[in-house]
Amino acid sequence: MALLHNVCSAPLARAVRSRSISIPLRTVSLPSPPRVSQSQLDSRILLGMSEQELQQVARDFGQQSYRGKQLHHLLYKTKAKEIQDFSHLPQAFRSDLQEAGWRVGRSPIHRAVAAADDTIKILIKLEDNRLVETVGIPVEDNKGSYRLTACVSSQVGCPLRCSFCATGKGGFSRNLQRHEIVEQVLAIEELFKHRVTNVVFMGMGEPMLNLKAVLEAHRCLNKDVQIGQRMITISTVGVPNTIKKLASHKLQSTLAVSLHAPNQKLRETIVPSAKSYPLHALMKDCKDYFLETGRRVSFEYTLLAGVNDGVENAVELAELLHAWGRGYHVNLIPFNPIEGSEYRRPYKKAVYSFSLP
Ligand code: SF4
Repeated sequence: MALLHNVCSAPLARAVRSRSISIPLRTVSLPSPPRVSQSQLDSRILLGMSEQELQQVARDFGQQSYRGKQLHHLLYKTKAKEIQDFSHLPQAFRSDLQEAGWRVGRSPIHRAVAAADDTIKILIKLEDNRLVETVGIPVEDNKGSYRLTACVSSQVGCPLRCSFCATGKGGFSRNLQRHEIVEQVLAIEELFKHRVTNVVFMGMGEPMLNLKAVLEAHRCLNKDVQIGQRMITISTVGVPNTIKKLASHKLQSTLAVSLHAPNQKLRETIVPSAKSYPLHALMKDCKDYFLETGRRVSFEYTLLAGVNDGVENAVELAELLHAWGRGYHVNLIPFNPIEGSEYRRPYKKAVYSFSLP
């Protein structure tokens, strides 16, 4: 779900929006890629598995459980990319794993470009040669504390076709598997040589259309990669019945809903999929999410000049949120034009007026 709606693709938009990736970019020197096998997409992949699952794998190969712990360490701490790099394990175990078709599940980085502010966008080349985008966003505050956010994709492309979004215009290829989400975070850590502190599911795709893999990746990022649940944000434009499902997991993560309009009629022109999810039903699900999890919902609102950035829109938005109670937060995102888009960036004055209705 689009964070950077306006730049390279929907998703990457906000992260790079004010430090556009079109400003002087430098190619980043990449770590050497792992060799990619031709095995099928769903074959045996270690990345994404829990310690217990890895212990079971070890036992299935006649090894003792502690070998599973070692596998866990190699995947998530050492970040080994290939089974032959598992130097702590006996050669016979490594060979058995490989002969049985197991692999780590890391993909090569196809391209990485950095903006002047050190934000880096990477394209990862998946096993079926499709490319997926991820952005690393480093932020250091004036007290010297450092935050590294990974903006991850959940699908290759997106089927929802929001009218302002480059990813939506490019169509949909497939859902990502859990390891293909987790590896995006590991790739960012590798490039920055620093732990990722925050993850936002705001890259390519609509996470709620791939909820199973998103939840599995969330578990792995939290328990195995050890990123706090509160440091993870899952975004959506709204897919019927999925917010309830997410709430039932009682995650301590933030739900970010891309609203983009204060009423149903306008919203349908910007987010065509809203036709099947009336605004009042979406707002009710957001309220229930807050009640169920105690986590406030964050609303993303992309400001499109002359479309949804008027003071009357701001007043209507405030009334809408007020009517649905408390526990909300709004992020205003001035649109960053993409080639061929019918939309324009709002004037600074309009952004300012919108924020103070
Ligand atoms: S849901 Fe899909 S089309 Fe809509 S903004 Fe997100 S990535 Fe783009």
